[in-house]
Amino acid sequence: MKEINIYIHIPFCKSKCNYCSFYSMPISKSKYNPAYFKYYFDLLIKEMKDMSQKFSLCDSLVNGIYFGGGTPSIMPADFFSGLLRYIENNFKIMGDAEITVEINPESGDFEKLSALKSFGVNRLSIGAQSLDPGVLRTAGRIHDKKDIYDAVNNAKKAGFKNISLDLIIGLPKQTENVFHSDIEQILSMEPKHISAYMLSIENNTEFYKIYDKKNGTTFASEECIAGYYEILCEFLDKADYVHYEISNFSKPGYESRHNINYWKRGEYLGLGPSASSFFKIRDKEEIRKTNVSDLSIYALNILDKSENGTKTDFVEVLTEKDKINEEIFLSLRTNCGISLKRLIEFVNPDIINNFINAGLMQIKKCRLNDNIALTVKGMLLSSEIFAKIMV
Ligand code: SF4
Repeated sequence: MKEINIYIHIPFCKSKCNYCSFYSMPISKSKYNPAYFKYYFDLLIKEMKDMSQKFSLCDSLVNGIYFGGGTPSIMPADFFSGLLRYIENNFKIMGDAEITVEINPESGDFEKLSALKSFGVNRLSIGAQSLDPGVLRTAGRIHDKKDIYDAVNNAKKAGFKNISLDLIIGLPKQTENVFHSDIEQILSMEPKHISAYMLSIENNTEFYKIYDKKNGTTFASEECIAGYYEILCEFLDKADYVHYEISNFSKPGYESRHNINYWKRGEYLGLGPSASSFFKIRDKEEIRKTNVSDLSIYALNILDKSENGTKTDFVEVLTEKDKINEEIFLSLRTNCGISLKRLIEFVNPDIINNFINAGLMQIKKCRLNDNIALTVKGMLLSSEIFAKIMV
């Protein structure tokens, strides 16, 4: 039986953060009402129905469901119960499936979180990013430190054990002292999982408009971000977190199954604008479909009203070379890496030895295999390393 994960994208936020390049839009007061949420709900259900038929997914076993965004926590509770009920009635959900909702601290109230728990949600990912007022304000976040503590306490009170906190490394005004304090406060909340992303300035963001490429005014240098990353890795190692992927750390047994499915090239159904799906179909054919990043065009596509059908969605049939490259770079993102035997089928051993000698790669025993994995220094230079070993 085919196993899949389901990702549901919520493209709404209360306001747009200055670093954010995800497809999401501030929701206006006029749209903040049950009818508008129902409109989006119906589009998602229709897409799920269509995709299930097209890719014969009805008998699939659902291993995980992930509500990401955007800001899923601004949606009303019945939006989640309705979608989860539909999935339950139309797929087979594994007994221990991981069901995650991303929460923004200012919308993590106890009633909403208790309702999510009662619907079967068992993991929350809370977007803290920093706890410093100046850093949060400059990043365009609308929550404060108290909102973060309140959301975590509400989650625990509602019965959630599996809580993840997000942190961004290298935000403006995040001095070394502030970063230390961010880490200490995050650890004081005892999350089971921490995702830490290094700030990168994407071209469709507010930060991009003020970013001075020549001297990076007001933004941390790459060296500074690398230094902070190393500090974080050391802190979390001492606190017994497993560094199981470049940007992800967890207490043993709390690795995100949604993320792992992606790095292992497992199949997934992505719903909503900008979401991607990945399926392995007959004769080893692999397809990735990415929905258009525009809610109005997405709606026209789903309702079969667009002039040229789904022409604005991006569909890619992976070549053998694509598959190998994905296998290599996704495996190397993880702490287990890739089997050495497998890697030297495609990459000259001299190149691998050079990386080992430079302290960027290491041999690791993983599930009885001799694997090759990145060191922390290698993780910091992962893009450069991948560029050199792609086939
Ligand atoms: S970072 Fe999150 S909350 Fe901020 S705009 Fe992006 S999706 Fe919305």
